[in-house]
Amino acid sequence: MNTLYLILFLLIILIGSVATYIYYLKEKNHELESIKRGFCPKCGQKGIMLTDQRSAGCCGPKILTFTCPHCEYTNSFSIETPSCSS
Ligand SMILES: [Zn+2]
Repeated sequence: MNTLYLILFLLIILIGSVATYIYYLKEKNHELESIKRGFCPKCGQKGIMLTDQRSAGCCGPKILTFTCPHCEYTNSFSIETPSCSS
């Protein structure tokens, strides 16, 4: 009987952490959408700048860092490059 409760408890923790992770990804995606349109997700002003760009190689995900000149907002996003054909 105790094992059942333990499994149930672990299941709740697992679902909770997965939900938090999905929420985090959704939030991150929402911020990226705003940045793609040129707006800062924090203060809403136009003029967000790409300050850093890093990639592991010719293909694979790129790490882009955006900074807002109006507020302190800085965030990094890993973006999949669409194609590796070159
Ligand atoms: Zn801002």
